[in-house]
Amino acid sequence: MHKLIFLLLFLPLLVFAKEKPIIILDPGHGGKDQGARLRVIEEKELTLRTAYLTKKHLEELGYRVILTRARDIFLPLGTRVSLANRRPSSLFVSIHYNSAASPVAKGIEVYYYGKGSQKRKEKSKQLATSVINQMISQTKAKSRGVKQGNFQVIRETTMPGILIEAGFITNGEERGQLSAQTYLDKLAKGIALGVDQFVK
Ligand SMILES: [Zn+2]
Repeated sequence: MHKLIFLLLFLPLLVFAKEKPIIILDPGHGGKDQGARLRVIEEKELTLRTAYLTKKHLEELGYRVILTRARDIFLPLGTRVSLANRRPSSLFVSIHYNSAASPVAKGIEVYYYGKGSQKRKEKSKQLATSVINQMISQTKAKSRGVKQGNFQVIRETTMPGILIEAGFITNGEERGQLSAQTYLDKLAKGIALGVDQFVK
């Protein structure tokens, strides 16, 4: 009986004690910087739509989310970095779409920065792994794996950070999928579940 009362009183405190990190979502490109494009499909628009869908899923899971850009504006990479670094206890997730000279290339790949602080490098790799696993399980897309990358937004940010390349707009099959909101939502749900799995 006493045990039960103890649990009822203190369980809520234990739940709130572990505060969830703020998630910074960085939709790649924007404004004059369109990113990869093919006919009507523009990377800058896909990244923004994916970020909004991811934000919705993360908020449903109880996270506070900050977008580096919330509309179609040009935002320099350095500005994205300093925006993120103002929130040291956060996670940074940059969203991009890929293009290649070969139309055969397809699939999802997730990058982390492989130099600098050992602790940050390990956490970023773990985050990348759980995010790609959840994205693949939601979409059944081809996994190109977790890779090391030297991109400014993951090199110069100070919290665990990843850069997602969520599919190739130069691959006919993937381009078709990416023009459907339901597919973008699967990608977004995968990102959110992957973040949540990492945090837990
Ligand atoms: Zn890009």
